[in-house]
Amino acid sequence: MKIRVKQMPIEEIEKRTHTALHVLKGAVRKVIGAKWTAAVRVNGNKGKLTVQHDQKTTEAELRQIELLANEKIKENAPIIIHELERQVAEERWGDEIYDLFPIPESIQTLTILEIEDWNINACNKPHNKTTKEIGTIKITKTRFRAIKKLLEISFEIS
Ligand SMILES: [Zn+2]
Repeated sequence: MKIRVKQMPIEEIEKRTHTALHVLKGAVRKVIGAKWTAAVRVNGNKGKLTVQHDQKTTEAELRQIELLANEKIKENAPIIIHELERQVAEERWGDEIYDLFPIPESIQTLTILEIEDWNINACNKPHNKTTKEIGTIKITKTRFRAIKKLLEISFEIS
């Protein structure tokens, strides 16, 4: 299936870009071990994932991240959404569900996105149903901010 980004409504494109963040994060976690997401940004078919990390990535690591992310897309893995009590979610997955930006304590029911053996994340945004709907991820730029220990990975989907 060929997806023509420019002919899609912007919400559909941004849903795919957002879903791509989860797939990319799974690859980043596997290749360089970065656990904590510090920020995410979506603008049309462009996205940026910022993770906490203590060193610059090599070209080989970036190529591997991009490759694994696109392999996960081709697998057409289901995107599973769980809705459950916060305490239950924490008992099941620990702090792996969280990002650096905290979820207020007042929120006691969490929506959890799961791509099996890949990404688990408390997130209440709209997502695609399977990874193949994303299209293709291309990493366009990275920036390592040594003082803040943040790695920014910019990408585009097509
Ligand atoms: Zn999400």
